[in-house]
This record gives sequence, C-alpha cells and structure tokens, in this order.
Amino acid sequence: MFELKIVTYFAAAHQLKMVAKKCENLHGHNWKVEICVAGEALNDAGILVDFGELKQHVSEIMTTLDHKFLNELDYFDDHTPPSSENIARYVANSLQTILSDTEANVTRVTAWESENACATYLMT
Ligand SMILES: [Zn+2]
Repeated sequence: MFELKIVTYFAAAHQLKMVAKKCENLHGHNWKVEICVAGEALNDAGILVDFGELKQHVSEIMTTLDHKFLNELDYFDDHTPPSSENIARYVANSLQTILSDTEANVTRVTAWESENACATYLMT
C-alpha cells in the first residue's frame, strides 16, 4: 500500500457554541490541512495519482473554504458545526467524491487550527 500526503492552507472565520467560552465569539484561524490518499496499484509511470492533479482537486475544495464565514456554508449547520473535526470530514468526503473513479482513496485528513492543535478524520 502506498500513501501520498499533501499539505495546504486556508484562512476562514467560524463561531462554535457550547465549547470553551472564547470559541463562542466569532474568530478566525489559518488552518493547515494535511490530506492523505492511499492505494495499492501504481500506473505505468510508477505513481499512484499525479501530485499536480491531487493539488488541483484540493485547491478547488479549499476555494470553497478560504476567506469564508464557515457557519454560512451549506455543509455546516447546527448539527454539523464548522469545527476542525467537521472541516476535516468535509475535505475528506469532498475529495473522495472526486477520486471515486481512480485507484486512490482518501485515508485521512488532518485540520490544524493552531500550531499545536489538530483534528483528524479517518476514512473507514
Ligand atoms: Zn476556532
């Protein structure tokens, strides 16, 4: 099994309820997002999936998040607030849909909301 990882960034605002008190105020983060995809079969060029294509797909997903107020996006609502956990899941599910007809599958997405705090969504 081969696993590839790419790293990207986006900046956005969110507001979370019912967690640590300071998170209830509107605030922003510069999120760092690590995306891992895996598969067993390499193509004739010896690669699982072209890094350029992977970055292009992820870039399109980042466009939906970058410089947005995340609470206002369709994906998020009161039951799915825009926490780092749910952001990681959103990115993972969005990319998996794009990769559905390739040899690669998303294995995990990690969303770092600060230098020392992150949430990972593991695809099962
Ligand atoms: Zn926050």
